[in-house]
Amino acid sequence: MLTTVPRGTKDILPADIGAWRYLENTMRDICARFGYEEIRTPIFEHTELFQRGIGDTTDVVEKEMYTFTDRGERSLTLRPENTASVVRAYVEHKLYAENSPTKLFYIGPMFRYDRPQAGRYRQFHQFGVEALGAVGPNIDAEIIILAVTVLQSLGLKDLKLKINSVGCPKCRPEHRNRLQEFFKPKFNELCKDCQSRFDRNPLRILDCKVPHCGELSVGAPSLGECLCEECSSHFEKLKELLTSAGLTYEVDTNLVRGLDYYTRTAFEIQYTPLGAQSAVCGGGRYDGLVKEVGGPETPGIGFAMGMERILLALESQNLIPDTNFSTDVYAICTNEENFSLTFKTVIDLRREGLKAEFDFNGRSMKAQMKQANRYNAKYVLIFGEDEVKNGKVVLRDMLNSDQKEIDLKDITTILKAEVQNNE
Ligand code: ATP
Ligand code: MG
Repeated sequence: MLTTVPRGTKDILPADIGAWRYLENTMRDICARFGYEEIRTPIFEHTELFQRGIGDTTDVVEKEMYTFTDRGERSLTLRPENTASVVRAYVEHKLYAENSPTKLFYIGPMFRYDRPQAGRYRQFHQFGVEALGAVGPNIDAEIIILAVTVLQSLGLKDLKLKINSVGCPKCRPEHRNRLQEFFKPKFNELCKDCQSRFDRNPLRILDCKVPHCGELSVGAPSLGECLCEECSSHFEKLKELLTSAGLTYEVDTNLVRGLDYYTRTAFEIQYTPLGAQSAVCGGGRYDGLVKEVGGPETPGIGFAMGMERILLALESQNLIPDTNFSTDVYAICTNEENFSLTFKTVIDLRREGLKAEFDFNGRSMKAQMKQANRYNAKYVLIFGEDEVKNGKVVLRDMLNSDQKEIDLKDITTILKAEVQNNE
């Protein structure tokens, strides 16, 4: 127990950090291009925020939340997603009084009591964006293009973009009726969860992961047939904008996001080689959410991407750039008298902005040379007994093994110039 992480969580070790940074940097860079600013909200919130903001009938709220009571008897929940928190922050800080739309992004850990397997964890990371205060389909298009741009910039091909419209409170009741009529004769065959969804939220039967429910859903009345005029023209315009931006997409009438507050546009991006956990991005419009958590009526749209799933995809395609740990200079010292000088030199080099290392364990000259290689040192400084007596030190270029003596007082100037030249 003491030496293993809790089920569904994992350590991100130094060897993995390069890949994570690369992913995060790409995301930040593309958000900057699209004009989205970063927001960081707390890891836990009042449980009620998620009950309201995600919806009581969703799997996330019903089965997956990490909820606890703190010492002050408050019910708190580790965030299972970040949209509700971002909306809470938007309302709390009255961001709607500023420039509209408010375009935000986040990167961070989320927590769900999911069944752990490849691409599915209990602590996982999401990158997501939210745009609040824009009602037209152009923001929907911008957000979908942003998501695709991130994945394409990482080098991923074979992405499948699926879109749908889930309508609005005006057109959904009609669809709800038709769905209930459709599922009524099959009610006994539905899984327990779907039987309870039948009354509460029959739309979610279409989203059920139980294979037999999937089979029963074939031929279910699609929302497309019931969309009101506004929803229908919103969807048509979105498709036109995506096409004009050169995106290919598939309309999937069974695509309903698991969350209750979604209206109109719903979309998902799949990377099919990932198999069962192929959804790398899911999102949609949530025009009812800001009001639901106590703010002024404000339209919103966003998506979330599973970062671990993207990393799995990148690994499988060898798309993660080499980010070996390396140091600029390794200082070797083999006699005690020179240790202070070696130490001071390393500290000086670091103060000058260079990456510098030295030995902590009194190793032999040979072992220190090995260490230098392990650190991928570009240069080695050898503080030899005789050289130091003459005010000198040996500088070795590890790439071509060239060696020369330089004056002690010139170390930083020379190394700075050498390192800069080689960058
Ligand atoms: P799924 O159907 O795979 O459970 P979801 O509908 O619960 O997905 P969303 O709530 O839309 O997922 O979250 C957006 C993205 O976050 C998903 O597309 C996926 O990439 C990622 N994600 C969701 N749950 C997990 C998890 N437990 N572990 C890793 N990534 C996850
Ligand atoms: Mg899920």
